[in-house]
Amino acid sequence: MNIERIIKKFSDNNPGVDNSIIEKAFLFADAAHSGQMRKNGEPYIQHPLHTAYILAEIRADLPTVVAGLLHDVPEDTDRTLEELELEFGSEIASLVEGVTKLSKIKYRGIERYRENLKKMFLAMTSDLRVIFIKFCDRLNNLRTLESLPPEKRRRIAEETLEIYAPIAGLLGIGRLKWQMEDLCFKYLYPDKFHELEYEYEVEKKVERQRFFQKVKGILTPKLEEAKVNYEIEERFKHLYSIYKKMQEKDRKFNEIYDVFALRIIVPTIDDCYKVLGIIHTLWKPKSNRFKDYIAVPKPNGYRSLHTTIFGPEGKPTEFQIRTKEMHEESIYGIAAHWYYKSKNTHSGYQQPKWVNEIIDIQKEITNTSEFVKNIKMDIFRDRIFIFSPRGDVFELPEKSTPIDFAYAVHGNVGNKTAGVIINDKLGKLDQELKNGDLVEIIVEKNRQHPNKDWLKFVKTKRARDQIKQHAKKSTFDNIKRFIPGINKK
Ligand code: MN
Repeated sequence: MNIERIIKKFSDNNPGVDNSIIEKAFLFADAAHSGQMRKNGEPYIQHPLHTAYILAEIRADLPTVVAGLLHDVPEDTDRTLEELELEFGSEIASLVEGVTKLSKIKYRGIERYRENLKKMFLAMTSDLRVIFIKFCDRLNNLRTLESLPPEKRRRIAEETLEIYAPIAGLLGIGRLKWQMEDLCFKYLYPDKFHELEYEYEVEKKVERQRFFQKVKGILTPKLEEAKVNYEIEERFKHLYSIYKKMQEKDRKFNEIYDVFALRIIVPTIDDCYKVLGIIHTLWKPKSNRFKDYIAVPKPNGYRSLHTTIFGPEGKPTEFQIRTKEMHEESIYGIAAHWYYKSKNTHSGYQQPKWVNEIIDIQKEITNTSEFVKNIKMDIFRDRIFIFSPRGDVFELPEKSTPIDFAYAVHGNVGNKTAGVIINDKLGKLDQELKNGDLVEIIVEKNRQHPNKDWLKFVKTKRARDQIKQHAKKSTFDNIKRFIPGINKK
């Protein structure tokens, strides 16, 4: 990968936009990572380059692409976040900071973390661009997973399949979702993957192409007769989705495979229904397989017409019919919404209020779904999520202090707390923690009792109870014991 390709990709999607900052960020990152190597032997800079390229591909905006180039600088080099802010401004610096924080979360495969992690992810999405960067970072890491030890490889693949891919799905970024899924599938179930791959790509390929030509041969004259502009393509089925269907429905590969899938892209919504009519006139629709996601979009915003018909030779054939805009939305998710919106403004490039727009879109698509209940910031309004240095996530009430956190970790940690480091800086025990803070408690091994004064500022019941229970009697209490009569009123 090289920076020219990224600049080209970005300017193809954003003609006329001053993108000189991309080159600047590349030079900065390249210098910062110089001498570092990836596990696979490539120069380290290849990783941020690929990350930024995928971001440009999914049409992320300029600050996001730049932050993609810089995303590993504070964590893995001598250059600090402060330096980034000086060079590139606070917006880009805060995106990089968000990514750095997200990478502190570690997956342990334990049920209770899974939910927390999802919430965590969503709670931190006041700026969803951070998640886009994290996804593209992960996608590139998956592509180079081969060079990691098997245990680590497995952990990353599981984490991706269970957390990243579903979230990409919820956000409607189909392109990232299926790429991640197929890569993980390959690592987690290599035998199954290669078996399916062989059947799909080799054994059935010729037959599939023959059938595709046959359908096209019948359909296209009718479409031309009706004067519809169209693109027709064979729809690649993702191996993981075939595998999942086989698992869920306990069916054989052939039964699922034998459903041919095609996609027709047309200019307008009217054309979608026109094409549907033509298809249903040509072939008999399979009952219950027609879905109008244009009239009733899916909760993540997905729109399209779906129908399965008995095609030539009586073969079940799936059609997806949609407009170009709907198609792009299904690939780029909310990034596409933003892209179309910004294209429709005539004042050239403005720093779009990406975040707000996305939040608006979230509101629009929210009402119906379970997912939206989770993504709604409201339910997090009075909760914050704090990281431990080991990557565990703790949910605390707002305005919690390091002492609350220490007791949430363990009673013993609370009792022996002597100091605190917050986001790599020395902090105060009574200061309010903020969502996403990385908090490390300094314990004093020999300390036996908590400080009673902590009761003045702790927010959680757990901390309060423990302090009351374990606090050493204050010096005054001790004195009282030895001065007879002082307890009398
Ligand atoms: Mn990275």
